[in-house]
Parts: sequence; C-alpha cells; structure tokens
Amino acid sequence: MRRAEAMGHAGGSRVARYRLPGSGPHMARVHGNGTVADPLGGVRLEPVVGDLFGELLPTGQPWLRAADVTLLPPVMPGKVVGIGSNYRDHAAELGRELPTVPKIFLKPPSAVIGFGQDITVPPGTQRVDHEAELALVIGRTLCRVSRERALKGIAGITCLNDVTARDLQRVDGVFARAKGFDSFCPLGPWLARGLPPDDLAVRCRVRDIDGTWHTRQDGRSRDMVFDAAQLIVFVSAVMTLQPGDVIATGTPAGVGPLLAGQRVQVQVEGVGVLENPVVNRQDRIPTARV
Ligand code: MG
Repeated sequence: MRRAEAMGHAGGSRVARYRLPGSGPHMARVHGNGTVADPLGGVRLEPVVGDLFGELLPTGQPWLRAADVTLLPPVMPGKVVGIGSNYRDHAAELGRELPTVPKIFLKPPSAVIGFGQDITVPPGTQRVDHEAELALVIGRTLCRVSRERALKGIAGITCLNDVTARDLQRVDGVFARAKGFDSFCPLGPWLARGLPPDDLAVRCRVRDIDGTWHTRQDGRSRDMVFDAAQLIVFVSAVMTLQPGDVIATGTPAGVGPLLAGQRVQVQVEGVGVLENPVVNRQDRIPTARV
C-alpha cells in the first residue's frame, strides 16, 4: 500500500543550515511545512547547536522564518557520487540497457548550491536537463560495509538536482564536464533525518516564464534498479564514504530541458521542495585550442 503523501516529515527531524547577514553558517531544526506553490511558506527554524549527524540542542534564540534567511546546502560534501540509469523508465527513455552493476560517477563539490541559488547555464551547451533525485547523506565513515551497516550509515535524505548538459554528455562519453559545471548540483532545502529511503515520491516541476507550473517527473524510489543499501554497499567497496558525502540515487523518467527564466523544483516526499531559478552565464568557456 502506498504511504500517505506528505510535504513534510512523518518522523525523525529535519535540520537546515543557514546564514544571516554577516553571520553563519548556523543550524536549525525545521518546523512546519511549505506548499508546492511556496516551499518555505509556514516553515520556521529553531536555532540549534551540536552535531548535524548526532545530538542537537536548542540555543534558546528566537525562531526564524525560513523565508527570511539564506538557506545553505544541508552539507558540504567531500564528494557527490552519482548513479546512472538507476530507474528502469529513465534508462528506457535514454535508450540505455539496464545496468547489471551500479554505474557510478562523481560530481565535484564545487557544483553544489543551496535552495534559491541560480542554476547557471554556461555557453557551449544547447541542452541542459533537470534530473530530480533522492540524495542519501552519509553520517559515518563507511568502508566496504555490509547491507546492514550501510543502512545505519545513512544520516538522512535530501533533494538533489543532477543538472546535466545532455549534449556535452553525449559528445564527451564521460560525465565530468556535462555534470560538473558550477551550480549543477542544487542540494537541499534541508536534511531529513531518520526517513527510510525505500518508497518515497521523487518529483520535478518546472515553472515556465508565463508562470505556469508543469510536472516533468513523478516517480517513486521503490522503482530504483539498485536500492539505497545496495548502492552504499557497492560504492563503499570502491571508495570510503565520509560523513557529509552524498549519493545521488538516480532519476526517474521525464528528464527535460531547462531554460533561462524558468524555475525548477525537486521534491522528495517527506523532505520538502528544493527550488532554484535558471539563468544564463554570458562569458565564454575555453576550448582546447586556447
Ligand atoms: Mg542523475
């Protein structure tokens, strides 16, 4: 049976990192839920101190409206491990075979941005796609772990947009450039701790320049080819995962282009909505001949 839909969180806690003018980063417990139309509306932040992956204590300072602060990515990962073709319907839409082992790639930490920050389309690409993804945030050092230890190593879940220059991905045959531009890894809006990742809705919406929203992707994490535990077992057998590292678990069908002037949302059920505007970068990227 399908789990009840919720914008917010059923159990555990949600933790945001934020900045105020002249100070920060700070941490806060997240209270309340926004709506799709207004992801931060009604959300209040209770300032806390402590360990993002452990105990958090209220500071006693006044609560803040989430809309009044600058939200930061919930973690600054040492690495972002991406998973290719991890939903059957997405592999089919790209004309790819289903993988027999997880296909992993890296997105550079320099690509990470938070809620509300611009996704910048660089010159030299004609096709930049959104990819709505459930992101696993690692909470402890994991090296060659079992399935059981893998699940205990998840600190929480957040939303991730695996922004991809589709044309450059095809030209290059490898992913580092196509998925590695600055701003190509929106992450947030906060960390949902203690949320089982196995059957959550993963959605993407795009707001056109005329203000209308369109649902582009609407999948469920239970349709992943390799589930969260399998991914952590596999990745941790290759590279040691550290607290704050992120695994982007792949995207369901419906990837499509982003254009300057649009806004894009990634929603993971039980976490919240990550929203970013899309702008064009005006300068030139160097070519091999420079
Ligand atoms: Mg992806």
